[in-house]
Amino acid sequence: MNKHPDSKAIKFFIADWLTLKKNPMIMVIIVLMLPVIYGIVYSTGGIKFVYSHTMYIPIILAGIFYGASFGATIGLAAAILLGPLMPIDTITGELQDPVNWIYRLFIFVMVGSIIGYASTKLRRDAIKIETMMSINQETGIPNTNALKRFHQKHITPNCTAFTILINNHHSIIDVLGTDVYHTLIHQIYIDLSNGLNKQSLVVQSDANRLWVLMPIESLEAGKDIIIESLNQSKIINDIPLYIDYSIGAAMIYGVSQTISPKVFIESDSSARYAQRHNLVYVLGDKTSYQKRVEYDLLASFAKAINNQETFLVYQPKINMKTGRIHGIEALIRWNHPGQGLISPSVFIPLIEETKLIHTLTDWVLKHALLQCRKMIDAGHRVPVAINVSAKNLFDPLFFDRSIKIIKDSGVPYELIKFELTESTLMANPEDSKAILAKFVKLGIKIAIDDFGSGYSSLAYLTQFPIHFIKIDRLFMQDVMTNPAMLTIVKSTIDLSKNLGYGVVVEGIETKEVSDLIASYDCDFAQGYYYAYPMTSEKLNEWLTKPHH
Ligand code: C2E
Ligand code: CA
Ligand code: CA
Repeated sequence: MNKHPDSKAIKFFIADWLTLKKNPMIMVIIVLMLPVIYGIVYSTGGIKFVYSHTMYIPIILAGIFYGASFGATIGLAAAILLGPLMPIDTITGELQDPVNWIYRLFIFVMVGSIIGYASTKLRRDAIKIETMMSINQETGIPNTNALKRFHQKHITPNCTAFTILINNHHSIIDVLGTDVYHTLIHQIYIDLSNGLNKQSLVVQSDANRLWVLMPIESLEAGKDIIIESLNQSKIINDIPLYIDYSIGAAMIYGVSQTISPKVFIESDSSARYAQRHNLVYVLGDKTSYQKRVEYDLLASFAKAINNQETFLVYQPKINMKTGRIHGIEALIRWNHPGQGLISPSVFIPLIEETKLIHTLTDWVLKHALLQCRKMIDAGHRVPVAINVSAKNLFDPLFFDRSIKIIKDSGVPYELIKFELTESTLMANPEDSKAILAKFVKLGIKIAIDDFGSGYSSLAYLTQFPIHFIKIDRLFMQDVMTNPAMLTIVKSTIDLSKNLGYGVVVEGIETKEVSDLIASYDCDFAQGYYYAYPMTSEKLNEWLTKPHH
């Protein structure tokens, strides 16, 4: 397969000075220079004086601008003007010896042709080099250099920028090799170029990334064409290839004279957003807006704790055998001054990406232990669980800080439980084991939260010092209707118990599910059916009632 785009496709981004369109003005000027110089030589006294050399100027210019044949023609005309038509000395009127001017004619024609030939050759080589530099040598697709050379007149000031990411390029290369991948991406380029109109530009900016620029009004149509051409089946070397792609788009106003890669910053980030969220297509504004919202939220959370905008609620866990309370889980709430209550599933993932998670966890631990202490004093020796994030666990100061908070609270270690997700442990299994062991040695209990939502097996978890498995609440959603879910839950309960772990089933909302789970000999349960997460006051009240 020919991997090089047709010359038409290349032409539009080759600089003007290289193509040197045959400008008739320059030709007229060169031709007019001949009689003018003839006049100068004649009026200064004839060929015997030095001024005749001025004639080289139009000959050289003719060669440079119009190549060998025009250079030679001008050389010939100049030689005749300065030959039989020009005396040696205008005063004496003595004519030249024909040998002189015939020899000069030969020189003039040679100079015109040689300069013309050299200039044409140089120009062709320069175009070749420019083209080579502007084309990805492996795929034959214009690259980011081509972007700079793309004629502004082909593009409107307001554009739509698209970024296409080929998500499975590694697996294609691993299985079928780079040649097949390069041919594939070239094929995508050809399909795109055929589908899009002349005002569009397609470049390859990375091994797995294509950029498309087109007039802003063709956003919708352009998007459809791109998706359609990516969905067209691609068969390379008789192998049908599946392309997993993500597209990001952004509207760019006032694209400058030279198109810079910066034009694609927003579409790149939209494409990455699409990739992360398994989306086919994302239009730019949304991602930057989303990021802005997230950033603002994070910035306001930095002050939230000090401003007493956060508080804890507590959700009881029930011992299914006795119906009594088994423990409480502390869950954070944020009462945002402008937005009201914000769910922890919205802000915790943002905070977990920053060091603020340390402040948050310390604060939760301190206040949860305060509640626990109060309950002990009121005669309820109820264990309290707090959620610990991966960043906390791997913070070298976390252990010392937590121990200090615990000691200050006066709550015995045995009444404290840390809930961690499987993915937290997997992030760094060796370190996790070591850190957890230090807490466990003191008597703190460890629970695996959201078990089943990740990929780990119980067999793998046995190497960690843990005490409880909390089965993810997602399983409870269709446990009544989906027999497979039921089997998974039942066998997880059995296996966990056989391995010596306590089992907590989360998210029980109805009596039916509660009865069903109880019939599987499950020890502990948590869910709206028994109790919603409650403020400290509500919990104290709840504890005095007989239902537990
Ligand atoms: P999680 O640790 O799995 O917490 C249980 C979540 O399930 C809580 O949501 C709780 O309100 C909810 N839930 C309890 N019973 C039921 C039920 O029967 N049905 C349903 N559908 N949901 C039930 P919440 O409080 O919105 O917290 C969401 C997540 O945010 C928590 O999931 C936890 O991962 C995180 N989170 C909450 N508080 C903290 C905290 O103080 N620190 C950290 N690091 N994460 C926290
Ligand atoms: Ca939890
Ligand atoms: Ca959970």
